[in-house]
Amino acid sequence: MNTLRAEGLYKIFGRRAPEALAMLREGHDREAVQQATDTVPAVIDASFEVQPGEIFVVMGLSGSGKSTLVRMLNRMHPATAGRVLIGDIDVTSLAPPELRALRAEKISMVFQHFGLFPHRTVLENAMWGLEVRKVPEAERRTRAAEALELVGLGGWGDSYPGELSGGMQQRVGLARAIATDADILLMDEAFSALDPLIRSEMQEQLVELQQNLHKTIIFITHDLNEAMFLGDRIAVMKDGRIVQIGTTEEILQDPANDYVEAFVQDVDRSRVLTASAVMEEPIATILRREGPKAALKRMRERQVSALYVVDPGRRLVGATLDDEVIEAIMGGEHHLENITHTDVPVVDPDTPLNELLMPSAQSRLPLAVVKDGKLLGVIPRVTLLAALGGVRRSNGTEVPQVDVPGDDDREEAGA
Ligand code: ADP
Ligand code: MG
Repeated sequence: MNTLRAEGLYKIFGRRAPEALAMLREGHDREAVQQATDTVPAVIDASFEVQPGEIFVVMGLSGSGKSTLVRMLNRMHPATAGRVLIGDIDVTSLAPPELRALRAEKISMVFQHFGLFPHRTVLENAMWGLEVRKVPEAERRTRAAEALELVGLGGWGDSYPGELSGGMQQRVGLARAIATDADILLMDEAFSALDPLIRSEMQEQLVELQQNLHKTIIFITHDLNEAMFLGDRIAVMKDGRIVQIGTTEEILQDPANDYVEAFVQDVDRSRVLTASAVMEEPIATILRREGPKAALKRMRERQVSALYVVDPGRRLVGATLDDEVIEAIMGGEHHLENITHTDVPVVDPDTPLNELLMPSAQSRLPLAVVKDGKLLGVIPRVTLLAALGGVRRSNGTEVPQVDVPGDDDREEAGA
């Protein structure tokens, strides 16, 4: 799999594009250039890199240049200037046959309005991308059926698109893109036409699918909640320019300008902020081999009533509690083994905050944030509640604020 790179991309609509390009490069602003040359500078000097397996979201208001940008990536729009590279293939300078091959084999596109053929069955629709590639019929059927299975439409192959709900139709569009085996998926407002609940489901399914597929996904949306839920990184566009590229946390905590900040204010942080954003350094830990006396000493120093027991490299073993440590010392016990509870509350760093409330409420211990067996951090209940109420940690850093999700917390998603 290859890195996708955009280098200084411009797309200017209009006959006098070269003149407009020169003016923009001299530093004139978009408005002035547009007026002077009667052109539309839709994308101005866009550069970014997308790693294999990454979901890269391009977000911005309607008209900010998102669709134009994404269409330059597969050259549906030729760029006015700049380059698109997939690995070491320069897409911008490919001859037509190579370009066709690239579109058939490496890049697939999923559109907002599904783009399904109404008189073909769901299976035939899912096979379409493979037809273009001239894959033999039997293999087309098998691969399309597998893709339908993946998106949860196993039994629907013989139905027609008109018999399916909007969400299901978009799943067909997704299955069609997946069936082609393309490494890169371009998804332009793919979920924007769906109603809010279905849309959330699709977002969750895409994230789940991606864990197995590891595609490189460029996802376009005008919705920041969607952007932050899906995106490993997000590029924010305004008036043709990329004004910030960063992770959800970087953008929430350090918006590059007022425009991004205004966007950020409406975000449902409990859904997009994750355990890794609020976790603290795990200082209340003890090595398994250290024993009960060391544990008691550590508890006194740290003023805690429980410690996480770890192996070297912070591999989480379990937790030990003060009363049992004291009992063990009085009983002449030299090891922590027998008083280490292994059923401790463990969460993944990517768990959204709204899913931490229950496990946190049910546990005496801070939540352990664990990845591949390694203790990355802990979330004491007070920290989680502080994130809900917006106060500072003991070390002075701010705990990002969160709105408590209510029953209607999904309503704003598509509004
Ligand atoms: P977005 O996808 O963010 O809504 P677009 O990329 O569709 O934005 O459009 C960016 C700007 O380019 C808009 O001002 C739009 O009107 C203009 N534009 C898009 N396509 C064309 C075209 N084919 N000819 C002229 N102007 C266009
Ligand atoms: Mg668009």
